[in-house]
Amino acid sequence: MDAYKVIEKDLAHLPRRPNLVDYAALSRDFDWSRARALLDGLPQGGGLNIAHEAVDRHAYGRRADKVALRCIAKSGGRRDIRYHELAEETSRFANALARLGVAAGESVFLLLGRVPELYIAALGALKAKCVVAPLFSAFGPEPIETRLAIGSGRVLVTTEALYRRKVEALRGRLPGLAHVILIDEGPPLPATLRWQELMSAASPLFAIPPTDPEERALLHFTSGTTGRPKGAIHVHEAVVTHHVTGLYALDLNEDDVFWCTADPGWVTGTSYGIIAPLTHGVTNLVVEAEFDAETWYGVLAAERVSVWYTAPTAIRMMMKLGAAAVRGYDLGALRFMASVGEPLNPEAVLWGLEAFGRPFHDNWWQTETGGIMIANFLALPVKPGAMGLPLPGIEAAIVERQADGSVAVVEAAMVQGDLALKAGWPSMMRGYLNEEERYRKCFVGPWYLTGDLAKRDADGYFWFVGRADDVIKSSGHLIGPYEVESALMEHRAVAEAGVIGKPDPIAGEIVKAFVALKPGFSASEELRRELLGHARKRLGAAVAPKEIGFLANLPKTRSGKIMRRLLKARELGLPQGDLSNLESDER
Ligand code: AMP
Repeated sequence: MDAYKVIEKDLAHLPRRPNLVDYAALSRDFDWSRARALLDGLPQGGGLNIAHEAVDRHAYGRRADKVALRCIAKSGGRRDIRYHELAEETSRFANALARLGVAAGESVFLLLGRVPELYIAALGALKAKCVVAPLFSAFGPEPIETRLAIGSGRVLVTTEALYRRKVEALRGRLPGLAHVILIDEGPPLPATLRWQELMSAASPLFAIPPTDPEERALLHFTSGTTGRPKGAIHVHEAVVTHHVTGLYALDLNEDDVFWCTADPGWVTGTSYGIIAPLTHGVTNLVVEAEFDAETWYGVLAAERVSVWYTAPTAIRMMMKLGAAAVRGYDLGALRFMASVGEPLNPEAVLWGLEAFGRPFHDNWWQTETGGIMIANFLALPVKPGAMGLPLPGIEAAIVERQADGSVAVVEAAMVQGDLALKAGWPSMMRGYLNEEERYRKCFVGPWYLTGDLAKRDADGYFWFVGRADDVIKSSGHLIGPYEVESALMEHRAVAEAGVIGKPDPIAGEIVKAFVALKPGFSASEELRRELLGHARKRLGAAVAPKEIGFLANLPKTRSGKIMRRLLKARELGLPQGDLSNLESDER
């Protein structure tokens, strides 16, 4: 850790004064209720609604004609949506939902790539006080069905192709899914509605009803070690954190062109791909195409991106091409680069300096926290490899579980423990949908336990150590081993499955599965390929295992639980640890 020199900042050389300069003073004086005053609130004390803060409050004033979303399609086509137009389009969608009889509190699922309709539907549904649940469009039918069922999806907005491929066959098992809206034009498909028809019949005026800040707004699915995915509930009040983190952690200013490369199917793509930039009235870039280094450099240059929020896997892929590949592009507008989602190795932070003339600023948060909690700030020194300092208003600590079930804060520097946050910030999840027990278990006294292991150094910077559980982070996507194991178990040849994250130089980890076969089946290359194909079809490419190994038996505890840690240790040639709980015939 100490091998890397701290990157000091010289504020005089920054193109503008950062929004956060005196970290100590701001942290000391910070007060969430005062932060709330940075936002408008609905007229006449009508509460707080995310869509009002992101769209309507800019739409009728001096920002009316400013570009809110600059959408660049895979085809290269561009569409600029100005704030007043975004207000009208989102109002149309809110009215369309009302006409369909969709009520406040009901959930609207989105299964779309990064196309304008995704942004319009999300913000329109928030206006109508529906609960927005974005799904990753690369999910296969199984993750989609599970999430629609858990979240009681009433509306799904998607494309005809995605619908035919992934949803049509499930429809009979989802009786609550009343409306499927297809965004593309074309003749009607049975039991679906066409976006264009709904939108052109709807009025562009919609007055957002009074919204209690504690009303549900977003449902983001995340994975645990066991059981089904968890639906983390966020409320309209979360917009206070989105705005404040946009201000301090991403240093957003009104004249920025901001690009968050994350897909809204994951929380980063919603909090920072939709909400935070719009609450700041910036121009938010939406790029539909998947990662390609040359394309990305071209976008950064041509669109004059000033603040860029991306992820370690993409940075490592760029590093592979070398810094010289960046040189031909005019990146003069770029003034701040941040990264999130998985550990950002120190070499990647420094490569930012070499290739772009500035470091990547790592920050840390998770689905449950709703917004950035720990960050390397523009004005402060960056320690390559560290996640940074807590956001003003956030109390973070390393804690240690005690025998009596309580936790104690570890004061000493560089001691590994559980990363905990003092509960009570606006974008803290309000629950896991229908899973009170799982939610309750995240808290001990005043502390929310994040599930991550970390250390804190003497300057207060946090350093990531690893996950306390078995969930896998692959290319920034959190993957629950149980969901993958369940899909494999559906194959007729599979008796048992155990899934681990295997370290990978680019993706951080890849999903590796081990299977034991049923009697009558034997391991072969053909079966391996069949299983890989089966998993990919069910789960989608982002979640399916990349490798499958055959074992005669999987190591299990005496109570029958598969010991994923042991599978991992054996795969990596690491010490196997305490085996006292291992079923005897496995030892
Ligand atoms: P998700 O809920 O999908 O956003 O995943 C959150 C998890 O990703 C965290 O609990 C961490 O395990 C990991 N993570 C996110 N950001 C970072 C980071 N900057 N460094 C290390 N791990 C991270």
